[in-house]
Amino acid sequence: MEILYHSTRDKNIKLTASQAILQGLAEDGGLFVPEKMPVLDKSIEELKGMDYRQTAYEVMKLFFTDYTEDELKNCIAKAYDEKFDCEEIAPIAAAGGAYYLELFHGATIAFKDMALSILPHLMTTAAKKNALKEEIVILTATSGDTGKAALAGFADVPGTRIMVFYPKNGVSAVQERQMVTQRGSNVRVVGITGNFDDAQTGVKQIFNDAEMKEELKQKGFVFSSANSINIGRLIPQVVYYVYAYTTLLRSGRIHDKEAINVCVPTGNFGNILAAFYAKQLGIPIAKLICASNKNRVLTDFFASGTYDKLHERNEANGSFDSERSFVLTGSPSMDILISSNLERLIWQIAGCDEEKNAALMKELNAKGSYAISDDMKEKLADFSYGYASEEDTAEKIRSLYADCSYVIDPHTAVAGMVYDRYRKESGDETPTVIASTASPYKFARTVLCAIDPEYGKLGDMELIDKLQEVSKVDIPQAIEDIRSAPVLHDIVCETADMPREVREFLK
Ligand SMILES: *Cc1c(COP(=O)(O)O)cnc(C)c1O
Repeated sequence: MEILYHSTRDKNIKLTASQAILQGLAEDGGLFVPEKMPVLDKSIEELKGMDYRQTAYEVMKLFFTDYTEDELKNCIAKAYDEKFDCEEIAPIAAAGGAYYLELFHGATIAFKDMALSILPHLMTTAAKKNALKEEIVILTATSGDTGKAALAGFADVPGTRIMVFYPKNGVSAVQERQMVTQRGSNVRVVGITGNFDDAQTGVKQIFNDAEMKEELKQKGFVFSSANSINIGRLIPQVVYYVYAYTTLLRSGRIHDKEAINVCVPTGNFGNILAAFYAKQLGIPIAKLICASNKNRVLTDFFASGTYDKLHERNEANGSFDSERSFVLTGSPSMDILISSNLERLIWQIAGCDEEKNAALMKELNAKGSYAISDDMKEKLADFSYGYASEEDTAEKIRSLYADCSYVIDPHTAVAGMVYDRYRKESGDETPTVIASTASPYKFARTVLCAIDPEYGKLGDMELIDKLQEVSKVDIPQAIEDIRSAPVLHDIVCETADMPREVREFLK
């Protein structure tokens, strides 16, 4: 069955999977969604016998229907290879009453590698299939991890260039260093004086700027996106939820047909949306628990049905009467107030209705908020939600280490804390998979200070050695690589100057 993709705001904008991957974002600002949600055509029993690559094929073939079997298998083989430091690709660790699905064993030690190691291959294959003449320019806004993973994926890939914008003061020391040391003849990294939302909005504006698009076309370039707004990034993320389920079955930790919950530290809503897609494919997932940090716009949304990026919900009386401010936290990849992928969920719970969705997104643009109908709210019954403060997050890192000698990163700890509370309040004892989204090495200072504030005295590189001593986990290659690497990118610009920087790069 062929699956086409159309914009969440207009059914008439319709493309094949490979075209949607090339384009990234629909020209009306909407996101591409499959016009029909496929279901797995292999039984769980069959999937249980498969490794990560085989599972990836079974999932991706359902969505990327205009790729041939050879093309897809080729992309998968090139993506999920020795770049990952373990054979399982996404192993599971049991600790503190939950299953931590470790998604950080790729080249840049964050879960973004799970999709960004395959996206360049999907994209260059798509360029060939569609006889694309232009060079592809990947424009990416990053809250810290996407940037490096996209740079690593696209560096020196023929026919592509990549430009990354990151919030200059909004990422961890290791995240920044990983990006500004990136080598490659086709890469550019730029810090902006704004936050992640500013970067993401700036990139979306450039995408939707018809004049700029035309100007670049003349010069032989087309834009695409490596953010999770690209369907080519979202679908590869569905794979690891399918694989997590079969891994738990294979190891006898759950029994046949037993349901699991999934708890995901959430920012742009890509990762948890992938779990929602896995559920629709037929994986027995009961609850999807959306965990936020102090930028809790999603918690407020699930609690009330109102998405308000400007005002915070008063938990005592439910009103949105105080101003919401963007806060920088120790989990920077979740410091987001405009969760782009939520639009795909909104479209779906609106009954796959483009007009309804477009009207809500227009409201969000115009006044910074929208409210969904009661009908739509009912369709969110599978979601639970919660947020963790900085203190909660530190406490989770500390206690899990004290109890189980298992060290997690601050993003994962947000989810761990939210899950503990959910379990206590609901009494729900369903086996739960927590998406572990980054290696603690990426956030060594926050992690070690949570374990013992005394470690705060150490320098950034000393912290790395200390973390090895504490966690007994080898220092990942990605960290070794940046210890001595020279800084190659030092441009910082105002948000308003992003288009100028793009033109500069493409001169
Ligand atoms: C990107 C990221 C997240 C948030 O994922 P979304 O798909 O944007 O919701 C959480 N944790 C880490 C470490 C990340 O890099």
